[in-house]
This record gives sequence, structure tokens and C-alpha cells, in this order.
Amino acid sequence: MKEMFLRAHGKVNLGLDVVRRREDGYHEVRMIMQTVSLSDRIRLETRKEPGILLTLGKNSHLPCDASNLAYRAADLLMKEFEIREGLLIELEKHIPVAAGMAGGSADAATVLYGVNRLFDLGLSLKELQERGVKLGADIPYCLMRGCALAEGIGEKLTRLPPPPSCIVLLAKPPIGVSTKWVYQNLDLGKVQSHPPIDRQIEAIKNGDLKELAEGMENVLESVTIPAHPESGRIRDVMKEEGALNAMMSGSGPTVFGLFKTLEEAEKCRDKIREEGLAREIHVTSFT
Ligand code: ATP
Repeated sequence: MKEMFLRAHGKVNLGLDVVRRREDGYHEVRMIMQTVSLSDRIRLETRKEPGILLTLGKNSHLPCDASNLAYRAADLLMKEFEIREGLLIELEKHIPVAAGMAGGSADAATVLYGVNRLFDLGLSLKELQERGVKLGADIPYCLMRGCALAEGIGEKLTRLPPPPSCIVLLAKPPIGVSTKWVYQNLDLGKVQSHPPIDRQIEAIKNGDLKELAEGMENVLESVTIPAHPESGRIRDVMKEEGALNAMMSGSGPTVFGLFKTLEEAEKCRDKIREEGLAREIHVTSFT
């Protein structure tokens, strides 16, 4: 029996732009991705009985069957390499679900990484990314982690240096938002402002947190926030409470704010709790 303990990190977008809608319905994006310390825990264990067994921690209502991305990631590699042994996946969720933090993609990426190591498949990062993209556009990035520019449908990645460190406060109002619904309802003609992604990249290279934060913009807010004003209110509270800037991550509804000090972030967290705006609130950092 062999086992592995792994962490699947969530991500935020420091800038999210949609460039155009392709004829096949996919959207071309330019996004600055950054992983955060907040992570799901995954334990993998080889078993004699063939097949995949997925278990989830008590407080998760996600399915344990083949519809779970962690399961699908293992299945993809185990079928391709005709692995006769079985696999136990124990998944403990901490990343908010359907929240714009790529939690499912992070789990899938981590399982791909783990299965490759556990069964000595010898695949390179690039080969894992080629397989991962079949399950989701964010999975190649989740395999890479850190700071990156994502283009194309999110799978064309350019590594960026780590941005200056700061405190990241995440708050998810008690609603789930479907990424598909958000993109379907995006009207690019109505988007008035786009994030200055190139300027943000320069700010990252220069270690200029203020300039990076000033550029934070997410065009998907134009869809999610009118439908879920709770996210807009959280964003406003974060700005009032001293965040360098605050915005929605991905397709939402999670909002994050960048703070210079832990004290400010904790004070803001308490205010969001008092107002009953979010139950899932995390003080975390870039990783
Ligand atoms: P993204 O930012 O990549 O669009 P998200 O953070 O908005 O992702 P996820 O938490 O990844 O959303 O989940 C989206 C949907 O995928 C959920 O509604 C859930 O039913 C399904 N799903 C399948 N497997 C998982 C998993 N392991 N973790 C979370 N969600 C999963």
C-alpha cells in the first residue's frame, strides 16, 4: 500500500478580462491568476480492489461518484494507463464550492499530480496539463500554481513572478454561481471598462502592490453583481475597511480584498460577519 497527502490550492484572479466570444461559444480571456494558501486536503492510497473509491469529509454535500472532478481526474489516467490496482481518494473540502475559486479544478489537478507519482506513470507537467485541459480550462493553471497570465480559454499560460505579499480576505455570500451561466449572460458590448492587465503585469514585475491593486477589475462582475448584490456589498465593505482594493474572483460570488495588515483584514472579517453578509470567510495569503 502506498499513500500521499496533498493540498489543492484555491485561486483568485487579480485581473480578469474577456477579450472576445469565439464562434464555438467559448470566450477568450486574459486573466492574472494567483493561488492562495486556502486549500482542500487530499489523501490518496493504493488499494488491492480495482476501481476508484472517493470519500468526502462530513460537511460536504458534493457527490462522491464519477461526477466529482477528483474522481474524473483519477479515472482519466487510470483508464489510459490500464492500472489494475485500485485507488482511495479522501477529499476534505475547504475551498468554497461554485465560488469562482477553481476548487474543483484544483482538486482535479492535484489528483492528476498524485496519481502520476503514486503509480510512477512518468508524465511531465506539460503532459499532465494536456490531459487536464480535457476536464476543465483552469486545470493546466492549477497544475502550475503560483502567479500566471492565462490566455486563450485559460489554458495558455505564462509564468509571472510572485506578487508582493499581503493579506487576502475572502468572503463568499451564501449562494452558488454557475460559471456557465455567467459567461452565457455576458454582453461584451455593454462592458464599459476593462482591467489594465499589462500594467498589472508590470506592477508585479516591479513589486508594486499599490499599482497592482489599483488595476484590479473583473469584467464578469457586470453579470454576477447585478444578480447577486450581496457580492457588491461585501466589496464595498472591504474598501471602506481599508482594503487596497477588492473585487470578485472568477465568476463569483466570492469577493476578495487585499490588505496591508492582518489587523485590518480581521477587523473587516468581523464587520462582514456582523452584517451577516457571508458565513464562509477566510483570512489567507498568496502562495
Ligand atoms: P471555476 O472558478 O473553475 O469556474 P468554481 O470555483 O466557480 O470554479 P467549483 O467549486 O470548482 O466552482 O465547482 C463548480 C461545480 O463543479 C460545482 O457546482 C460542483 O457541483 C462541481 N464539482 C465537481 N467536483 C467538484 C469538486 N471536487 N469540488 C468542487 N466542485 C466540484
